[in-house]
Formats: sequence, C-alpha cells, structure tokens
Amino acid sequence: MPMPAEHILHRLADIVGPEHVSVATVDRITHSFDATQRQCLPDVVVHPGDTGEISRIVRLANEERIPILPRGAGSGFTGGSLPVRGGIVLVLTRMNRILEIDTDNLIAVVEPGVVTGRLQREVERLGLFYPPDPASKDFSTLGGNIAECAGGPRCVKYGVTRDYVLGLTVVTPTGNVIRTGGRTMKNVVGYDLTRLFVGSEGTLGIVTQIILRLLPKPEARKTMLVAFAAIDGAAQAVSAIIRGRIIPATLEFMDGAAIDCVRRATDLDLPPDCRAVLIIEVDGDRALLDGQARKILDIIRPLGVLETRVAETAGESEAIWQVRRSVSPSLRALNPHKFNEDIVVPRSRVPEMIRALEALSTRYGVPIVNFGHAGDGNIHVNVMVDLNQPGMDATVHQVLDEIFRTVVGLGGSVSGEHGIGTAKAPYIGMELDPPTLAAMRAVKQALDPNNIMNPGKIFPENGTTAAAGEADPAADPSASDHG
Ligand SMILES: Cc1cc2nc3c(=O)[nH]c(=O)nc-3n(C[C@H](O)[C@H](O)[C@H](O)COP(=O)(O)OP(=O)(O)OC[C@H]3O[C@@H](n4cnc5c(N)ncnc54)[C@H](O)[C@@H]3O)c2cc1C
Repeated sequence: MPMPAEHILHRLADIVGPEHVSVATVDRITHSFDATQRQCLPDVVVHPGDTGEISRIVRLANEERIPILPRGAGSGFTGGSLPVRGGIVLVLTRMNRILEIDTDNLIAVVEPGVVTGRLQREVERLGLFYPPDPASKDFSTLGGNIAECAGGPRCVKYGVTRDYVLGLTVVTPTGNVIRTGGRTMKNVVGYDLTRLFVGSEGTLGIVTQIILRLLPKPEARKTMLVAFAAIDGAAQAVSAIIRGRIIPATLEFMDGAAIDCVRRATDLDLPPDCRAVLIIEVDGDRALLDGQARKILDIIRPLGVLETRVAETAGESEAIWQVRRSVSPSLRALNPHKFNEDIVVPRSRVPEMIRALEALSTRYGVPIVNFGHAGDGNIHVNVMVDLNQPGMDATVHQVLDEIFRTVVGLGGSVSGEHGIGTAKAPYIGMELDPPTLAAMRAVKQALDPNNIMNPGKIFPENGTTAAAGEADPAADPSASDHG
C-alpha cells in the first residue's frame, strides 16, 4: 500500500491523538519484524487507548480497504504480526491495565497489552495462579498469547491459554464491538466464539478485553533433573510416568545435540556420557510432593538413568531451570539462522518422532537439535542449516517437508503453540483437508469480507496448499521460524 493519504492520517490522529500516530521511519522499522527475523514495513504505527478508538480505526480501515494488524510485543515465531501488505500496525501496549482480580470468583479481567508475567506475579500475591507460561512471559502480552493460544512447560498438567479464557471483548473487522463468553465457568448460549478467537492469530478481530480463569496457587513444587545415557530412555520415561498415573506440572526434555550446544556455550555440569535430560517438576500439597517425586524416580530408574538431582531449595530449582532456559540462547548463539519448528505428536509417539528426526539428520547431513515439552508431545525441532552452503535452501525445504509429513503421519500437528502466520502457511494443507480449510476460509470471509484484518496469514497466498507429501515448491523456507 502506498503511504496513507493525508486525510487518513488526520482521521487517525483525530481518533487517538496525534502523539499516538507515527509515520516516522524509526517507528515503522521498530514495528516491522517479529522473532522470525523477517521484516515488512508498515505504513503507519498507531497506539490506541481503548476499545472505542479501536472500533473507529477499524471502521476507517474497512472503508478505505487498508490492511490493519494488531500487535502486542512482536515476539511471535511465525510472522503473525508482520505487515506483509503494509497498512496500519495497531500496537496494543498502551492498553496494559489489570482491571480486576476477583478472588471470590477466581477470575481476572485485563486489557490485551498486559505482559503475562506481570499478571502472574499480581495474582500470586493473592494466593492465586495463572498457569500458561510461555518462555516469553516476561515480555509477551496476553493479547498475543490469546491470538496464538500460547503454551509453555506447564501445559502438560494445566493446559494451554485457551483453557483459561472465559470471555473476550473483540472489535470485528467491520468495526463492531462484540462480547463473547462471560464471567461464569458455565455458558452454553450460542456458538462458542471465545474459542474461535483464541488462536485466530489476529485475523478475525482485535481482542480489547479479556476475562481469564484463575486457580488457587499450588502450595509447593519440587524440581528434578534426570540425566540419561540415551534419548530412547528419556522418551520411554515420559510414557512410563504418564502410564504410572502421574501428571507432573512440567516434563521437559533436551536431546544429546541440545546438551552439546549448551555445553559449548556454558559450563554445564552433567555426566560426560549424558545424551538426554528430563526436567520434571511436580506441584501441589507439600505433604504429597516427596511421595510423587519418589514414585517418578522409581518408575524411570531402570531406563538408563545416569544421575538424578532433586532441588531442595528455590535456588537449586532455579539452577535446574537455568539449564533448560539456556538451550534457546545457546542454539541461537551457535546459529542465528536456524529453523525452529514447533511440532507436536501424541506423547506416546515421541520416541518414534525423535528416531525419525535422527534419521533425517543423518540422511541430509544437517544437524537437528531437539528440546521441548515432552510431557505433551510438543518438540522444538531446530534445523541447524548453514544457508551459505550451496543448495542448502532446497535441502531445508526437503527436510522441513519430511518433518511435517512424519508429524502428520504420527497423528500430530505442524504447530503446537507458535501458530501458522506466514511461516507455516505453505504446510497447512498437509494437516487440514480441503473441506476443513474451506470452512475456515468461510469463517474468515464472513467476519472480514474485505480481508483487511491481518491479511496474508494462515492461508497460503496463492490459494493452494501442500497436501501431505507435496510441499508447495514456491514456499519460501526463509519465511520459516528462525527462533
Ligand atoms: C524467546 C521466546 C520464547 C518463546 N517461548 C514461547 C513458549 O514457550 N510458548 C509459546 O507458545 N510461545 C513462545 N514464544 C512465541 C511468542 O512469545 C508467543 O506467540 C506470544 O504469544 C506472542 O505474544 P506477543 O505479545 O509478542 O504477540 P505478537 O508477536 O505481537 O503477535 C502475535 C500474533 O497475535 C496477534 N495479536 C497480538 N495482539 C492481539 C490482540 N490484542 N488481538 C488480536 N490479535 C492480536 C498478532 O496480529 C499476531 O498475529 C516465544 C517467543 C520468544 C521470542
């Protein structure tokens, strides 16, 4: 889109105040990228202050057919907040009030720009708990979490963002303000639009107010790090724990390649022959935790355990989590251009998936490093390509194509928590059949007849999608997630 006409800039300034509208190059560049490291310049950056302003801006954009993009912290991993067709970027960070924490009904009412970690700290002060915990919780916003249905380590026990959203206020692409759900646990009046908007990646409307469900804060937690001689033992341990009827709060894993990367970047202290790590945390009543931890360790001991560390203090627990948190930065330091995929398979199929990834790595001669949320089958697969090598673009294509095909074949999904955005759009047809995709397009068309709301996302641009085993040859691997 060419730079918006003067009259449009004037109308935007009338709505939000001139100080909240910018066409300055510096502001456009600052809002031109997300964690994919791709960049698309918006035409204008607007910081609205409330639902009414957003409604008026969206009406204007719809009349003038200007693309409009909701944006939180811009930490998305799949290009969701990139203005691929220019237009207005609507930054929600001014709307950052926690409006209410209702301790009788265990709910919080918040604006979309609230940073997730801030809400967690506020509710925990009152003995309450908001479980969804993306690793980005100290900077990502609740609006962005809802748009992506963010997950995190605690999902294995507590579920994902959608499980905590009771109601929403949304400005639709025609500028109407609608309210979905409400403040009650039960509500079956009409279609469940709340669930429709959660995970819709800013393509169906702009979330301007959120009602969240809270839990009582668990009394205590116990963190354990278990070192294994082989990835197979760790993968079997995951299934054995769940079969043992224990659902830990977190069940994270790192494979041998991830351990090697962390060793290179930090002074990680693990047995030299350690080729896999599980980080297991149980939470709940203090009196029950020791028993649960013992039961888990008894179950997994025969599976090639080299060493077990059980944190006795908050400091020791933090030291264990530091190992897990150092994986992403260590990988990025080694290879800033790696491809970080976010696959998920039924958790009983994790061992097969890991074996398939190892086989692909050997066959294509490309290092593949895996870590993530083994407890819910969500594996962060890092394809460590060197794009300077001749032919590597095509190789990446083939590797990603085979990874996604394997995932779908195992009954899994190409994205567990990062969404589709632009990065995974070419692959969506591997998982969703044409009638299902057509139903989704019909929803988009009904709510956004002029396709102004975050256009160019989720659905492949050329109207075709790769069916299983036929990745779109036009797909741009550089559009993949470089997290
Ligand atoms: C280091 C790092 C670690 C991460 N770890 C995790 C993790 O553990 N789990 C996980 O799930 N994700 C993780 N992410 C990805 C990312 O943080 C999440 O997707 C997060 O939910 C995005 O929030 P945001 O505020 O940055 O949204 P943005 O990136 O600004 O936007 C993401 C999408 O949401 C839409 N959107 C934003 N606000 C609204 C709104 N108010 N209404 C409608 N649509 C809106 C945008 O249009 C876009 O499509 C991580 C990212 C990084 C960089």
